[in-house]
Amino acid sequence: MKSDLKTRIRLLESDFDSALAEASDLQALEQIRIRFLGRKGLLAGLFGILGSLEGDEKRASGHLLNTLKDKMNTVFSEKARSLDMQSHGESFFDHSLPGNIGYIGRLHPLTTLLREIKSCFQSMGFIVAQGPEIETEYYNFDALNIARGHPARDMQDTLFIDEEQEIVLRTHTSPVQVHVMENQPPPVRIIAPGRCYRRDTPDATHSPVFHQIEGLYVDEGVSFADLKGTILTFAQRLLGSDIKIRFRPSFFPFTEPSAEYDFSCLICRGRGCRVCKQSGWVEISGAGMVNPAVFDYVGYDPERYTGFAFGMGVERIAMLIYGIPDIRMFYENDVRLLKQF
Ligand SMILES: [Zn+2]
Repeated sequence: MKSDLKTRIRLLESDFDSALAEASDLQALEQIRIRFLGRKGLLAGLFGILGSLEGDEKRASGHLLNTLKDKMNTVFSEKARSLDMQSHGESFFDHSLPGNIGYIGRLHPLTTLLREIKSCFQSMGFIVAQGPEIETEYYNFDALNIARGHPARDMQDTLFIDEEQEIVLRTHTSPVQVHVMENQPPPVRIIAPGRCYRRDTPDATHSPVFHQIEGLYVDEGVSFADLKGTILTFAQRLLGSDIKIRFRPSFFPFTEPSAEYDFSCLICRGRGCRVCKQSGWVEISGAGMVNPAVFDYVGYDPERYTGFAFGMGVERIAMLIYGIPDIRMFYENDVRLLKQF
């Protein structure tokens, strides 16, 4: 009798498992519940047999039966839950519940502006060139005609990696010009965007790290008029067709003649405001015709080729466009600022 009950317990378990596996809807599941787990079902029948046993035999079989009962109930509930979800399908998802809103990443305003500036120049046929941020003094100064003893080479301005080896963090993107010209003959039409470093004490308009974009165009017959046309086209593509430009005479060792160029104020469009100090103009950066001395350094024939170069500070333009009053805000990574872009 004892072994008989044990056999029947095993049989019931496997019958129940295969019946559950075949059940494909809630109706079939209910039939299984009645047949196996109902008050007059097969499991209850085995408990009935248990009543006719005694002693150790009764205890052992009772334990087996109770374990089976727990297991059957658990497996049954799982199957019921999975069939229930299937039968509800999509409608089981409650669309009225409030969702979890995650943070969406954004591009940094400097990244966005850099990309826009690059695409303006690329549309005019300029190619993006890259150069190292760690430079020798030769590329950062000498080959750009910045003589030893020139104030720009002052230790106050330049961050040296190794003073004896004359290795510096580049103070401008101009050395990229030299690398490019050393490696290819004219025509050259490049922009070189990138990080620059200077030994500045951070304040509202100075940061020890900042971004510049350098432009260079060298070919036969390139003139100052080409420079003006390029800067004007760039300004109007980036900022709107009503932007005007003007050039003021200046001096840089690597260009001759040199100029500084201004845009009509981006805020008041030239009418006069606090940002442009009522002048209607904002200073952007420097430009000029490449000094023949620079061509000598890279082996270009200054009798045959002419070229123009220009630079611009990306942070400066971003501050003007976005009305950001302090350059340090670009590097603080404060999400309250960043999420406005
Ligand atoms: Zn203004």
